[in-house]
Amino acid sequence: MNLKEEMSFLGKKAVNQGLVETNMGNFSVNLLNNSMLITKSGHALDELCDESFTIVNFDESKIPQIASREAIVHMEIYKNTDAFSVFHSHSSFATIMSLSKHNNCKALQSLDVEGEHFLNEIQFVEGKSGSLELARKVADVLQYNKSVIVIGHGVFAKGESIVAAYNNAVITEHSSKILYYTELRNILM
Ligand SMILES: [Zn+2]
Repeated sequence: MNLKEEMSFLGKKAVNQGLVETNMGNFSVNLLNNSMLITKSGHALDELCDESFTIVNFDESKIPQIASREAIVHMEIYKNTDAFSVFHSHSSFATIMSLSKHNNCKALQSLDVEGEHFLNEIQFVEGKSGSLELARKVADVLQYNKSVIVIGHGVFAKGESIVAAYNNAVITEHSSKILYYTELRNILM
């Protein structure tokens, strides 16, 4: 599979597995020549095809409007971290946990074995979607972590491969789900 085919395959998988709703997320890969390949704005993750991607050059003063609205976040991650790929998902449980917990704590502490092993702590950041301010906050956290939750928005996960970025988003959502149901059970018991 080439890069586009791999992102298309995992985009479909993400929607089929309920990680993200069809048009709520974006995917990119670092082309390692000061540019990235990223999904275009408005292209559903489960319907990605050859025409669903565009290249954004990091030297351009303005990101082309055709690119995902959150291309600036992907770009800042590549400029400031070791990421090869970035997956962004509006995952439900991660978003719910960010809304219910961020007043009391700055991060989620994973309880499950996958989350503990691969992520440990999942930090929250806040910021306007598509803003440089948010992009910088996300990139700062991803220098030392594999994923981050934007409060009330969703997950940005990085990886050393496309599938690693996808898996880190999956683990983040899984850990958030475990935390959600654990807290709910504690309330009900
Ligand atoms: Zn988003």
